[in-house]
Amino acid sequence: MHCFNHPQTAAIGTCKCCNRGLCTDCASDLGHGLACRDRHEAQVEAMNMIIEKNARIYAAAPKNILIGPVFFLLLGLLFAGFGYFSSGGITDLPFLMGLAFIIFAIVSYVRSRALFREEP
Ligand SMILES: [Zn+2]
Ligand SMILES: [Zn+2]
Repeated sequence: MHCFNHPQTAAIGTCKCCNRGLCTDCASDLGHGLACRDRHEAQVEAMNMIIEKNARIYAAAPKNILIGPVFFLLLGLLFAGFGYFSSGGITDLPFLMGLAFIIFAIVSYVRSRALFREEP
């Protein structure tokens, strides 16, 4: 591959914005990637910021996986406890609903764990 502006010069990389080949004279190294000097520096900088932001959100996700399951677990315990103590026992509808919520909480917890298992 050769530089887009200098066909005789070998390119050291491509612009993250327009994917054109860039030589050392034309490339601007922004730390995370190359950009056309004086042309796409601002765009590539913005792209890097978005990518970095997404990476941070994704990294934080495994810490949030408990919120949903815990909510359903508490709801399930509430229903099950209410059904068990105040009405007809474990065959009554509130208890069975509570049981369903608890099962749903466990299933969603296991599923989100599997989803983020590859993360460090
Ligand atoms: Zn460019
Ligand atoms: Zn060049």
